[in-house]
Amino acid sequence: PAGRLAGRVALVTGAAQGIGLGIALRLAREGAAVALNVHKEDARAAEARQQVQALGAACEVFVADVSRIAPTRQLVADVAARLGRLDILVNNAGIERHAGVLEVTEADFDAVIATNLKGPFFLAQAFAAHVQDAGGGGRIINISSVHEDLPFPHFAPYCASKGGLRMLMRTMALELAPLGITVNNVSPGAIRTPINEALLQDAAKVAALQAQIPVGRMGEPSDVAGAVAFLASADASYITGTSIIVDGGLLWNYSEQ
Ligand code: NAD
Repeated sequence: PAGRLAGRVALVTGAAQGIGLGIALRLAREGAAVALNVHKEDARAAEARQQVQALGAACEVFVADVSRIAPTRQLVADVAARLGRLDILVNNAGIERHAGVLEVTEADFDAVIATNLKGPFFLAQAFAAHVQDAGGGGRIINISSVHEDLPFPHFAPYCASKGGLRMLMRTMALELAPLGITVNNVSPGAIRTPINEALLQDAAKVAALQAQIPVGRMGEPSDVAGAVAFLASADASYITGTSIIVDGGLLWNYSEQ
């Protein structure tokens, strides 16, 4: 399809649902071919592929656990082989574990750091090597969180992973600029996705949360996807090493208290 991303190939990790699926749909609407990374090949993955293809975009599903290094390298090679090139990497896959400082286990800590921090780094490394071989030019966009900056009691490893992702992004932006790669984070506040399923079942909690959000509502995956599409577009070619916060004003409201 025509659009500001026509001719580009984008890889979105964790794209079967939630924010990742919203990003995949938006990039497809803007004309990109989209590689959907999923953790497991299941009905949800097939449904995501159908939704993207219904927009007229080329779309393939790639099963890979992005918390481990070997699969991230294979993923970049597979996408380039099957879709012909790779221009845009969206590191979206992420997990969180609710546990107080006194309860966090080694397994919880390692899983969160591997998925949210190690995976995005090694995927970016493989992506940058691919871009270098292809002659330069690309975009790395990490889905971080307002918790790259804002403390969140009972989510210490998650906060550490997103804070770490902010410094990875800033450092990679400097190192990868000579390859024509920009590196930025999109940092959502509270978005309606399956990750917040327990919260979304509790109307009183949702109302209390919405009262904290200056624009008066939780965000949707499409709100995050709009910022990603902008960063992927030519309009953002001079933007690198920064975080775009997409939170309806939540962060500053918390900071005021
Ligand atoms: P979600 O749980 O709905 O989706 C996350 C996706 O990542 C799932 O499809 C899951 O299968 C996939 N995934 C997890 N581990 C993986 C792995 N090892 N390999 C491949 N895929 C894997 O969550 P979401 O809300 O859509 O979150 C997406 C991103 O946005 C995450 O990085 C999250 O931290 C971030 N975020 C979400 C919110 C929010 O309020 N929903 C706020 C701030 C940041």
